[in-house]
Amino acid sequence: MSVTIAIVGAGPSGCYLAQALGKLRDDLAIDIIDRMPVPYGLVRYGVAPDHQGTKGVIRQFARLFEREGVGFVGNLRIGDPEHGADLTLDELRDLYDVVVLATGLSADRTLGVPGEELEGVFRAGTLTRHWNDHPDEAAHNPALGERVVIVGNGNVAIDILRILAKETHEFEGSDFGDHHATRLEQTAVRTIDIVGRSPAAHAKFDPVMIRELGKLSGVRIVVEDLDDATEGEDKRLAALREIDGHGAADAAKTVTFRFGWAPERAAGTDGRVTEMHFHNASDGAELVLACDSVITAIGFEDDTSMNRSGLVGRASDAEAGVVEPGLYLAGWFKRGPRGTIPENRADAQALAKRIAADLEAAPPSGTRPGATALRSRFDTITDYEGWLRIDAAETADLPDARCRRKLTRVEDMLAAARAKTET
Ligand SMILES: Cc1cc2nc3c(=O)[nH]c(=O)nc-3n(C[C@H](O)[C@H](O)[C@H](O)COP(=O)(O)OP(=O)(O)OC[C@H]3O[C@@H](n4cnc5c(N)ncnc54)[C@H](O)[C@@H]3O)c2cc1C
Repeated sequence: MSVTIAIVGAGPSGCYLAQALGKLRDDLAIDIIDRMPVPYGLVRYGVAPDHQGTKGVIRQFARLFEREGVGFVGNLRIGDPEHGADLTLDELRDLYDVVVLATGLSADRTLGVPGEELEGVFRAGTLTRHWNDHPDEAAHNPALGERVVIVGNGNVAIDILRILAKETHEFEGSDFGDHHATRLEQTAVRTIDIVGRSPAAHAKFDPVMIRELGKLSGVRIVVEDLDDATEGEDKRLAALREIDGHGAADAAKTVTFRFGWAPERAAGTDGRVTEMHFHNASDGAELVLACDSVITAIGFEDDTSMNRSGLVGRASDAEAGVVEPGLYLAGWFKRGPRGTIPENRADAQALAKRIAADLEAAPPSGTRPGATALRSRFDTITDYEGWLRIDAAETADLPDARCRRKLTRVEDMLAAARAKTET
């Protein structure tokens, strides 16, 4: 009998872990389970629609299901039934010898300042899921207005800035939905202020992301607060200096970078945000930006549905991701919302070695049924073949200049996944 392993979460960490485990032992029956009917986590629902090169990692992960015998079990949520889960963690553990939670961190961190609840204050995760057509946010209808303030200085903040700054034709080749592009065109964003708490030298974004902004056609870029930014003189500052002054003075949109401003409060009238207030920690100066919307992009945290703090609290080796032999944590869910897709790989390799060592030390009976039991209990789960049919539906009959048109409703995905048996 094979040792059955359930990896919960089909994002990069779950996929890298399956890859690494498969290299260590050939007697493992690995299933990757996801609450969505489709695999790949934030590669599909976080990475920006106009960064298709980054999404290309999917081709590598597909080999797991196509050649390496890993199973995909989609549309099955694990966790607390009160949070809509189909199966509890304990129930899942009864079915598998080993369970690994790689469920990511999807809740947006909040600023913790007054006024954050005002209408017109949006959160990065919600917005990026909406633009990536995640079914949870399909109904979301963000009214951004002409003047947008982005709070945060990481790569996600820059993704949002770039999407807002682009002209419609600049989405060619992406899977950014026509409806989103049309809505942005109608919104006619005029000014985008991106404000970071840290000085420019300590901003978190990647210089490559900054340089990419220098290719935008309809935008003027201004970088403030750089004058004395010599500390940590590096590629990031060089990239900012390069794009400072990009574009025509009369461009339709202006982007202004500002550094060293801590958010203090959002203010508004009639329940809607009209101003964002900041202060400078070093000299106490105030900055007030009039705006129609504020987008906070300051990181992610646990949505509490998986009791992460309880699991980490009782972990025998939290750093390695070991709760106890047979139960492990991986990826962002284990180590927090830090790191790019490739950075999950080394972590996954280390965890795979640890799991293999635990299996060696105490071999399981190998009698737990794994996916067979799931398939007989749940007739709504999808498999990899089902994902391929969804993929085919999303990439057939495409509008001009788009590489995919995502299905935005779970019902439609399930119908597409079942399509073969219905024809
Ligand atoms: C907006 C955004 C843009 C990004 N852009 C880039 C980029 O351009 N390049 C880059 O290298 N990195 C990027 N990153 C970082 C990258 O996405 C992460 O490093 C990576 O996705 C983390 O992988 P993960 O598998 O831990 O989590 P995730 O990718 O979040 O995967 C978690 C999976 O678990 C599933 N899940 C959650 N809860 C349950 C449950 N209860 N039951 C079953 N399944 C569940 C989810 O549906 C999801 O599929 C971005 C991150 C964000 C937030």
